[in-house]
Amino acid sequence: MRYTKLGSTCTMVPVIGQGTMGIEVPIQDSRESEKDAVARLRAGFDLGMTLVDTAENYGMGRAEIFVGKASRGIREKVCIATKVSPEHLTHDSLIRACEGSLHRLNSDYIDLYQIHWPNPSVPLQETMEAMRTLKEQGKIRAIGVSNFSVRQIQEAKAALDGEELTSSQVEYNLFDRGIEQDLLPYCQSNGMTVMAYSPLDQGVVAQRRLKVLTEISEKCQVPPAKIVLNWLVSHRNVVAIPKARKIEHIRENAAAADFQLDPEDMATIESAFRTLPIEVPTNRIKVVLDGVGNRRAYQTLEQALENSLGFTPSPLELAEDMRGKDDVLKPVRVRPSTDPSGKYDYDLVEGRIRYWAWVIAHDGGRPMRVLVRE
Ligand code: NAP
Repeated sequence: MRYTKLGSTCTMVPVIGQGTMGIEVPIQDSRESEKDAVARLRAGFDLGMTLVDTAENYGMGRAEIFVGKASRGIREKVCIATKVSPEHLTHDSLIRACEGSLHRLNSDYIDLYQIHWPNPSVPLQETMEAMRTLKEQGKIRAIGVSNFSVRQIQEAKAALDGEELTSSQVEYNLFDRGIEQDLLPYCQSNGMTVMAYSPLDQGVVAQRRLKVLTEISEKCQVPPAKIVLNWLVSHRNVVAIPKARKIEHIRENAAAADFQLDPEDMATIESAFRTLPIEVPTNRIKVVLDGVGNRRAYQTLEQALENSLGFTPSPLELAEDMRGKDDVLKPVRVRPSTDPSGKYDYDLVEGRIRYWAWVIAHDGGRPMRVLVRE
């Protein structure tokens, strides 16, 4: 395993860690228990993947409980990064959320406490004041953000008033390389760690036998997932947090930084995977209910404005923050539409709140940046 500094702190972390979203759901058709899931996480730690990313809302807190159990007896060797949800960003709410995470993690400190998503209706000053209090009390050791644009990171840094902002967790994989434009260089020049989430594009990279990857993989005698992770962490300041429940995947991921890709293969990967966002009129995109994760979604503007599902931030709140700014961090994901009416070019599969926020912010009159999944 290769190690790197976590932000500008003295903490060293492995460049490959472990994600935990969904680890609490038993593997399909298996009769596995919580004990098995905890044992797998522990196996990952024993193989060197001692950086673990979790969140208060993964499995309604169960993922944190599993992390706590897996790190029992080796707590000081594990770097636990957890996340506070956007609905808990007011001062008192954040302090309470942190107490809840500490309890579930069965620990008296969190190594890296991250804001999961921005919430424009709570002033960052207030959130960061609570973060500073937690740090002074020793309950958290470093502060990070997730899903923040460069502008929002700059605001967060300013609100921290000299306290270090250690990391930025964002989606980064071969399908979505958007951060290479601005966020990655920004973090590199400001001594921040970039924690790449969904580094295997939620498994798609390995499932679809992508020609270029298969060729390099056969030439190097290394599975495609290892090539992808190796390529990702070859970028300065980048660590990756793949989620794996199969033990063979855990073993592969743990060894993904233990070799060096040929510069020629690196260049081939660089040029083969350049999915650029395109701009599409919002009325050519249909919101479908079977997108990634089958999450709940609004299908009409009226529903989105009403926000009866209680999303925080609401589409309207997000729209207010978007007006007059061009830095929506993540383009939404679409796939060619299956709607027979001919009214739509694409079905929306990811980014359902951001889509409606964009429609509201621009009165439906401005095309939206999308990444097209084939
Ligand atoms: P991911 O890590 O890109 O992909 C996970 C999928 O890849 C699983 O289906 C897994 O299969 C498969 N996989 C893992 N290792 C493999 C290997 N060596 N070969 C082939 N397939 C492999 O996706 P993710 O779970 O979305 O992202 C990882 C972590 O990032 C999450 O768990 C979470 O901690 C974090 N995250 C954060 C945010 C945020 O908003 N901050 C959003 C998404 C994710 P098996 O499970 O069957 O082994």
